[in-house]
Amino acid sequence: MPNSVQAEVEVRRSRRRKRTVSAYRRDGKVIVMIPDRFTRAEEAEWVTTMLDRLDRSEKRRRRTDDQLMSRAHELCREFLHDKVQPTSVRWVGNMTTRWGSCTTSTGEIRLSDRLATMPAWVVDYVLLHELAHLIEPSHDKRFWHWVDAYPRAERAKGYLEGVAHAVALDLEPCPEEEAGA
Ligand SMILES: [Zn+2]
Repeated sequence: MPNSVQAEVEVRRSRRRKRTVSAYRRDGKVIVMIPDRFTRAEEAEWVTTMLDRLDRSEKRRRRTDDQLMSRAHELCREFLHDKVQPTSVRWVGNMTTRWGSCTTSTGEIRLSDRLATMPAWVVDYVLLHELAHLIEPSHDKRFWHWVDAYPRAERAKGYLEGVAHAVALDLEPCPEEEAGA
């Protein structure tokens, strides 16, 4: 499983920033924001510290692959009448254009780890979406009949569209970690 220690890191120096350091993940990269006055040694030290913190906070929040699998079973029961069962569900770090994918022939489901820090109901929506593809491979009426049974389907679609839009606009989210330097 990829973690921030292996991720590409981009350090951004800010003149406005006096004492705070922050780090967040975007597009598979970790952005570390530091005050412009930091020395190279301070930069290196803070990058290590912030990667470690980001990693720990993501691990606390992220469901494990096993938890994803049992959640998938619950969603199948609740929304898909147990018509299908995935053979595996796991996070992947190399998905750049999709939130999730599935292989209908094998029943394998993969979720982009960019979802890992999003609300559980958004992750559930993508998971249910991929599970429904095991019944209906295309985005046809029958497919949406299954997926839209999920009460927060519309809200989750809007949430994900919003995130994709913000990334395209190159907006920065609020920093996830703030620490006094
Ligand atoms: Zn789909």
